[in-house]
Parts: sequence; structure tokens; C-alpha cells
Amino acid sequence: MKIVFFSLRNDEVDFVYKCAQKYSVDIEICPYAFNMRNIKYCKGADAISIVTTPVNEEMIQLLHKYGIHYISTRTIGYDHIDLETCQKYNIHVSNVTYSPYSVAEYTIMMMLMSLRNMKSIMNRYDKQNFSLQGIRGKELKDLTIGVIGTGNIGRVVTDLLQGFKANVIAYDIHHKDNIHYVPLDELFQKSDIITLHTPLNDHTYHLLNNNSFKQMKDNVIIINTARGALINTKDLINFLQNHQAYAALDVIEDESSIYYRDFTDKAIPHDDLNTLRNMPNVLLTPHIAFYSDHSVYDMVENSVISIINMVNHQENPFKVI
Ligand code: NAD
Repeated sequence: MKIVFFSLRNDEVDFVYKCAQKYSVDIEICPYAFNMRNIKYCKGADAISIVTTPVNEEMIQLLHKYGIHYISTRTIGYDHIDLETCQKYNIHVSNVTYSPYSVAEYTIMMMLMSLRNMKSIMNRYDKQNFSLQGIRGKELKDLTIGVIGTGNIGRVVTDLLQGFKANVIAYDIHHKDNIHYVPLDELFQKSDIITLHTPLNDHTYHLLNNNSFKQMKDNVIIINTARGALINTKDLINFLQNHQAYAALDVIEDESSIYYRDFTDKAIPHDDLNTLRNMPNVLLTPHIAFYSDHSVYDMVENSVISIINMVNHQENPFKVI
């Protein structure tokens, strides 16, 4: 069985060789993204392993022509893959799961950095301004945290927040034990911090928009380590420009041509991102919440396991379609 790994970073290479040996599969490594220019690298393979780069109809038709019927994305989200067209061409798709602690701990870090004005403190330190003016923070135990989506990551976020003695309320279409669920409007109205942990789909697209912002408390902090399009970015910018509010965003709409690239000394072609970067009440990171040793190994290993399961028509815990 031969698998081509696209967008493989240097830090994943050792893990890929380790898994190839462990599961007796042939691998080909391609550091480039999966796109129309690089699709030629998958000729002769049984399956491909990709990341968040878009997979559209044209690419799916070519995969079909090459006789490749299996795509594994080494990510939890799979909204970058045109599933309907995959189904039409009998191409199976799987995702991976990995340690939820990577994103959950990062989310807590973003909460703490926002609450303690860490962006300001670090900027001011660089300028040798050690005054206390305007940087007094808050403690989690005094606040209500609204967690939207209590799946693998959201559940760990709620668990970690218990350790901080915060008051946690949650909203999800499926309920778990020992979590205090409230209707979405109530969560918007009562939360001091709102953190997003749902997948992106038709129901969650622009879940946060003018209507939801209108209901939120003064000084609310919005954390997004899930998917950019869960928030209407234009509405968010308008809200942040006109209210006492703060946002910490590891993801942003239309990030795929920007994040993981080096724009040193170049203009960034993303107007909303440029606007947000210049706002003092916004903390931005480039979609790196997942990026821990543990998670990266899980991604590679689970991608290989899912492909073996798909090719051998075995039960596949990572099956998407
Ligand atoms: P999950 O599937 O385990 O959990 C998602 C939860 O959302 C489930 O409990 C589900 O019931 C709930 N949900 C689905 N639709 C909903 C709706 N309409 N309203 C309310 N709740 C809804 O997913 P996860 O592994 O916890 O991942 C959560 C998010 O984090 C995903 O968007 C994923 O893409 C993102 N993510 C981001 C990073 C990063 O590096 N920033 C890394 C991993 C995952």
C-alpha cells in the first residue's frame, strides 16, 4: 500500500517514517501542498494524506482518473474537502483525532492572556514602559465562561476551567453529564468569556454575528480556536471597534492562503486580518493551537491507521464518508 503525504513539514518526517515501519506501508513524502500543480505526485499511490488545503471538483476528478479512492486529512476539521463531489466519484474521506489537550490548553492560555492584557504588557515591556496604567486584569474564578461546543476539545476546556474555579455554562446540540447547559441566547447574555468549539457547517456558519454580539455583556472576551467562519468577521470588527470587548483568535475566515506562510517584509493580502492586527483589543495567532509534540504524532499515526482501514474495508473510527 502506498500513501503520499502532502504538505509534510520537517517536524513530521520522523513520525511518518516511524509509522511506515510500524504499519508496513510505503510512503512518499511531498513537502508541497495538495493542489492542481502538485497533484501529479500522487500518481501510482493508493491514498493521499493532506492538511487544510482545499480539495475541489477538478482535483477530485483527477484523483478519480489516477485511481485514487482514499483521502485522509491529518486534521479534525474537513470543511476544506468537497464531500459531495467525493461521494459522486466514490472517493472515501477520513479525518483524524488527536490529543484534545493541545487546543484546550491553548484556549485556556488565550483566556488568561486576554484577561491579564498580556499583549499590552509585552508590547509595553519592549518599549521600557513598566507602568501599571490600564493593565489591571481579572481572575477566572470571578467570571462566567460560556463554552459553545462540548465535544472532545470543549469538554476538556470545561474540565480545565473547573480547576480554575470558574463558573462554566455551555451550549451544545448534544448534552454530556456534569456540564451546565443553557440556551444559546442565555449563554450570550451571561458570559464574560465566550469560547467556540463546534465544527464549521451550515448550522454553525457565522454563529457569532451582529445579532449575537448585540446580546453580549460589556467587556466580553471572545475566543476562537475552532474555525474562522464560525464568526462573521466584518460584524466582529464592527463590534470590537464600537464596544468594550476583546477577541483572541487562533483562526480567521479565509486564512488558508495566509497562515503557515512567511510574509516577512511583504504586505498581507487579507484586509480583515490587517484591520484586526492593528487593534489593541485583539490577540491573533496563526492557527497553531493544535501544535504540540503529542498532537503531531497522533495526526500522522491516525492518518496512516485510517487509510489502512479504508483500503482494507475495515471499520474506521475516522471515517467521514
Ligand atoms: P468534536 O466533533 O469532538 O466536538 C464538536 C462539538 O460541537 C460536539 O459536541 C457537537 O455536538 C457540537 N456541535 C455540532 N454542531 C453544533 C451546533 N450547531 N451547535 C452547537 N454545538 C454543535 O470536535 P472537536 O475535536 O472538539 O473540535 C472542535 C473544533 O475545533 C472544530 O471546529 C475543529 O475544526 C477545531 N480545531 C481547531 C484546531 C486549531 O489548531 N485551532 C485544532 C483542532 C480542532
